Amino acid sequence: MQDVIIIGAGPCGLSAAIECNRRGLSTHIIEKHHIVRSIYLYPTYMQFFSTAELLEIGDIPFSSPNDKPFRHEALSYYRKVAAHYELNITSYEEAVSIERHENGLFTVHTKDRRGQELHHEARHVVIATGYFDHPNYIGIPGEDLPKVTHYFREAHPYTGTKVTIIGGSNSAIDAAMELVRVGAEVTIVYRGKTVSNNIKPWVRPVFENMVTKGSVTLHLDSRVTEIREDAIIVTTNEGHESTVDNDFVLALTGFHPDRALLASSGVQLGGDMEKPVFHPDTMESSVPRLYVAGVIASGSNANEVFIETGRIHGRLIAEHIHSAQQLE
Ligand SMILES: Cc1cc2nc3c(=O)[nH]c(=O)nc-3n(C[C@H](O)[C@H](O)[C@H](O)COP(=O)(O)OP(=O)(O)OC[C@H]3O[C@@H](n4cnc5c(N)ncnc54)[C@H](O)[C@@H]3O)c2cc1C
Repeated sequence: MQDVIIIGAGPCGLSAAIECNRRGLSTHIIEKHHIVRSIYLYPTYMQFFSTAELLEIGDIPFSSPNDKPFRHEALSYYRKVAAHYELNITSYEEAVSIERHENGLFTVHTKDRRGQELHHEARHVVIATGYFDHPNYIGIPGEDLPKVTHYFREAHPYTGTKVTIIGGSNSAIDAAMELVRVGAEVTIVYRGKTVSNNIKPWVRPVFENMVTKGSVTLHLDSRVTEIREDAIIVTTNEGHESTVDNDFVLALTGFHPDRALLASSGVQLGGDMEKPVFHPDTMESSVPRLYVAGVIASGSNANEVFIETGRIHGRLIAEHIHSAQQLE
């Protein structure tokens, strides 16, 4: 039996394991894909908005020649941190439910990649399952067409095509700029009156210049209300409709955490998009000895927790478990 089972090997799950191990607790990380799966799914050439220092876990320096590191540097960094601390990680095994027994111990029920059911016992469980598996669907006709994706990887396949991006955040702006460079005809449709205020400051002027020069067509205060095989329908917030020729749609509308695992374990979920109830000083949920770490702890604004802020959850959890053990 492990002292702590951690579900999810994202930066926050890895950090929780390191902090627990440092306090003499045995850990097992169960990961349904592979470590830092979310970062792997970022656009291939993405640059973080955080500095390398603010992405560090386990006090291992993240050195980068760049002011803000790129995706591939972060993949390498987190791989090395996991290897350095010899973390006990099982990849390609999905946690499907958490059972809490009357004696306060847990069984985590899982399924491996062959569909085989497995059962792991632990004294404590940390849920650190993130949000990247669950895009925010818009719910419009045509959203399920094969030409629509919620994940942008790189621009090359879109060369010479007409691409509509739905969204106005960093992901949307980065994708638009990369697409222009490969010769795609880019239209952005965003419901806000301006694109996000959080656009990376070094990116904003370049993007605005592209809009001014007409390389990107920007429909603000508007929504895509239908996606067809060869076009999209754009409707302004005043109700004016127009048809835009289109080959591909990138619906970069964000992600939300999946609460199914939390619900299966009896954690109380609150009003704000079913935010789990937990103590902010310890990250312990309403179920004793069951903790949340990272983005899964956020409410309707999934961006309220990110690596910079979620990486400290592990220390809070480890300190709480350790001090409770001292009292037993
Ligand atoms: C394009 C982009 C750029 C970003 N840039 C930054 C940035 O510059 N700085 C910053 O701080 N943050 C940034 N973020 C946010 C950051 O990626 C997330 O906040 C971070 O990944 C959250 O870490 P986490 O450990 O909570 O979850 P995740 O990294 O999402 O990890 C969760 C892990 O749990 C696994 N998992 C899920 N369900 C199960 C299950 N049932 N069983 C087993 N395993 C499971 C997943 O496969 C995944 O590996 C960015 C996000 C995006 C999308």
